Amino acid sequence: MPPVTHASYDAVIVGGGHNGLVAAAYLARAGRRVLLLERLPATGGAAVSTRAFTGVDARLSRYSYLVSLLPRKIVDDLGLRFAVRRRRISSYSPRGDGGLLVDAEDAGRTREQFIRLTGSDRDFAAWQRFYGMTRRVAERVFPTLTGQLPTRAELERLIDDPAAWEALFERPIGETVEREFGDDLVRGVVLTDALIGTFSHAHDPSLRQNRCFLYHVIGGGTGDWDVPVGGMGALTDALADAARAAGAEIVTGAEVTSIATDGVRAEVGYGEDGRTVGARHVLVNAAPYVLAGLLGQRPPPRPEGAQLKVNMLLRRLPRLRDASVDPREAFGGTFHIGESYRELQTAYEQAAAGRLPDAPPSEIYCHSLTDPSILSPELAASGTHTLTLFGLHTPARLFEQDPAGAKEALLAATLARLDAVLAEPIADCLATDADGRPCLEAKSPLDLEREVGLPGGHIFHRDLSWPYATDGTGTTDATDGADGTGTTGGTGPAAPDVTRATGRWGVGTGYANVYLCGAGAVRGGGVSGVPGHNAAMAVLEKE
Ligand SMILES: Cc1cc2nc3c(=O)[nH]c(=O)nc-3n(C[C@H](O)[C@H](O)[C@H](O)COP(=O)(O)OP(=O)(O)OC[C@H]3O[C@@H](n4cnc5c(N)ncnc54)[C@H](O)[C@@H]3O)c2cc1C
Repeated sequence: MPPVTHASYDAVIVGGGHNGLVAAAYLARAGRRVLLLERLPATGGAAVSTRAFTGVDARLSRYSYLVSLLPRKIVDDLGLRFAVRRRRISSYSPRGDGGLLVDAEDAGRTREQFIRLTGSDRDFAAWQRFYGMTRRVAERVFPTLTGQLPTRAELERLIDDPAAWEALFERPIGETVEREFGDDLVRGVVLTDALIGTFSHAHDPSLRQNRCFLYHVIGGGTGDWDVPVGGMGALTDALADAARAAGAEIVTGAEVTSIATDGVRAEVGYGEDGRTVGARHVLVNAAPYVLAGLLGQRPPPRPEGAQLKVNMLLRRLPRLRDASVDPREAFGGTFHIGESYRELQTAYEQAAAGRLPDAPPSEIYCHSLTDPSILSPELAASGTHTLTLFGLHTPARLFEQDPAGAKEALLAATLARLDAVLAEPIADCLATDADGRPCLEAKSPLDLEREVGLPGGHIFHRDLSWPYATDGTGTTDATDGADGTGTTGGTGPAAPDVTRATGRWGVGTGYANVYLCGAGAVRGGGVSGVPGHNAAMAVLEKE
C-alpha cells in the first residue's frame, strides 16, 4: 500500500448524507477521531432543504420530505433539537367528483367516506383489520432495526402472527390486497406503499414490492409518516451540528476518488489534487455501486430509480372537483393521483414496455399546511403554499435517449393527470419567482443521479432488503468487517461483492475495515439514520 501522506483517523466517512452524519456523531461521541468527506458543497444528501426558486424565501425539502423511519433513540442519543408533526389527514384519493378522505383521528368520519365511495363499509372494516395487523407487525419489527440482525426464524417468532407473516413476507402483496379489499381505488391506495421508490407490481415474484411495503408501514412502530418541522434540512443541520460538537471534522466539496485497504488500515484518496488520508475504518455513505468503483472493482449492474419529483410553490391551493372536501384537508395528507389499482398496473406495464405512462400515477403533499415555518412570515401570511409531487413508474431507462424531452413530456402528462381532479389548472395557482418564472422544478432519476449521486436515481441506493439475516449476513455467516478476506490491489481471493451487505449488523462489505453506513446497507433506505447508527455500532463493537 502506498504511504499515507496526510493525517490518520480512527474513521473516515465517505459522504455526508444524513446517515454519514449519524455515523460521524456516534463515533465522535465515543471518542474516535472522525473525518467526514462530502462531495457536494453542503451535507445532507437527499435530505436537504433548499431555496429552490430565485428570490423566494421558501425552504423546500427538495428531495425527501416526510419522516417515519427515524427512531426516537437516535434523536435522543445524539441530543438533536428536531421535531416532527403528525398529519391528521393521512390521505385523500379523488375519483370523479368524489373521493376518499382518510382521517386518522376520526374513524367514524373515515367510515362515512368509505360508504360514500363504495356504497358499503366492507372495505372500511377490511382497512381497519389490515392496518391493525400492520401496526402490530410494526410494533415488533421497528425496535429490531437498531439491534443486530435477527434471523428470519427469530423475526417470524417475534411477529407471532402466521397470517401476517404469510401476507407480508411470503406471498406477493397483491394477493392480500385483492383478497381483503373490493374497491379498485382502495386497493390502489394500499398498494402505493409497495411501489414508492421501487419499480415493481402487485404480483412481482421477487417480492421487492413487499419489502418496500414493509418499510412504509413499520416506521416508529406505527407506520405514520410525519412532517419534519423546519423541513428535512432541519434534521440534517441538527445532525451536522451534533457531529461537529462531538469533534468530528466535516469537509465539504471533497469527493472521494479511491479506497485502498489491507483489512487493517485503509487509505482514502479525495479531492482534485489527489490528497490521501489514512484510516483504521472507512464507513461508506455512498451507494454500494459507488463503493465498488472506489475500490477499483469492475462496475456491478447499475441500480435504477423510477420516480419523478416535482417541487412547486403556489399562490393559493387549487380548488378540487370534489367540492365536498376542503383543499386544506386534501393536500394536508398524502393526495393520490391516478393511483387506483388498475391505473398503477397499466402505468407499470407501459413503463416496463419502454414508454412513459399515459397517465402517470403520483402523490402530492403540502408541507406548509402542517408546518408553515419553512416560509418567510410574508409568504405564509399571503396564503402561499409548497407542494411536493412524487411520481411513480418512470424508470431511468426511459430518460437515457432524450433526458430533457422525456422529462418535459412526463411533466406535462403528470400535471394533466393532476388537473383532471382539480376544478382549476394547477398552472393558474403557481407562484412566480423574482424573474417572473413559474415556481416549479422537476427532477428525473437522471437528475438525482447527477445532483445527489444516487446511482440510476435509485432513492434507496438499491432495492430494499428484508430486515433479517440472509446469506452473507447475520450471526451464522460473516460478521461485519471481521471476515478479513477482502484486500484491495492484491492477488488474493476474488474481490468481495460489496453490493451485498454482510455481517451481524448488515453493514459489512467483505473488506474487514470497510462498512456501508448508508441506504444500501441491510435495513437502509429512507430517512432513518438506522444504517449510520448500525455501522457505528459495528465499528465500536469490533474494537
Ligand atoms: C426524490 C426523493 C424523495 C424521497 N422521499 C423520501 C421521504 O419522503 N421519506 C424518506 O424517508 N425517504 C425519502 N427518500 C429516500 C431518502 O431520502 C434516502 O433513502 C436517504 O436520504 C438516503 O440517505 P443516505 O444518507 O443513506 O444517503 P444519501 O442521502 O444519498 O447521501 C449520500 C451522500 O454521499 C455523498 N457522496 C456520494 N459519493 C461520494 C464520494 N465519492 N465522495 C464523497 N461523498 C460522496 C453524496 O453527495 C451524498 O451527500 C426520498 C429520496 C428521493 C431522492
